[in-house]
Amino acid sequence: DFVANVSHELRTPLASMLVFSEMLKLGRVTDPDKVREYGRNIESIGLKLTQTINQILDYSRIESGQKRYHFEPTELPVIVEEALAACAGRLQQQQQTVQVLWPEEPLPLVMADAEAMTMALINLLDNASKYSAAASTITIRLQCEHNSVTLAISDEGIGIARAEQAKIFEKFYRVSTGMVHDVKGSGLGLAIAQHIVAAHQGQLTVTSELGRGSTFTIHWPGVVVDDESKAKAEL
Ligand code: ADP
Repeated sequence: DFVANVSHELRTPLASMLVFSEMLKLGRVTDPDKVREYGRNIESIGLKLTQTINQILDYSRIESGQKRYHFEPTELPVIVEEALAACAGRLQQQQQTVQVLWPEEPLPLVMADAEAMTMALINLLDNASKYSAAASTITIRLQCEHNSVTLAISDEGIGIARAEQAKIFEKFYRVSTGMVHDVKGSGLGLAIAQHIVAAHQGQLTVTSELGRGSTFTIHWPGVVVDDESKAKAEL
């Protein structure tokens, strides 16, 4: 299943890339706007492919115990903005809107491996988009209390049956009913996200209702950087 899924994830975008580049090579499109559009398509497919390949490599590093994390004082908005930028193409294509609900008080610095946490958030955002209808809204809500941060990603999508909710975090597991048939994936996104969150001493949980949507929440305790470490980080 994994090989079939992954081959599809790589072959389908490569095939479209080849079609676009063939059209450009043969001079079939000459209108400058069209040429630019094809260029943009090739670029966004390339970015998506890079993301898929990174995910597979990341997972194999995790599996073999070679994944290393580098924790440093990090600004939460940077993680959120970078994840949003990485998913922008897909969200735009699906005409989906993301609303970010920031807390009223300013966000503290947190101890994180920014690159890894961004990857976890990308996986959750990507799923929120994949398993929802076009033009739906995805909400990211950040809360910070005492020393803990919660980051919740909610969608208005197909939802996940109660019996499946624990299984979806297992590697390669994909719910096999309903619309999921039409949505390709490697079944690794949540396993990777969960591993990254656990490496940050956090927890990744899901609440979901079939047909109504899902919320994936990162509970991240004890991550707020105190004034002393903040001062050191600024030196
Ligand atoms: P992939 O999306 O590549 O299949 P994941 O590990 O990210 O792999 O997710 C595992 C499964 O969990 C998905 O195949 C899908 O069935 C289900 N799933 C994950 N996120 C959502 C979501 N936001 N809404 C509905 N189903 C979801």
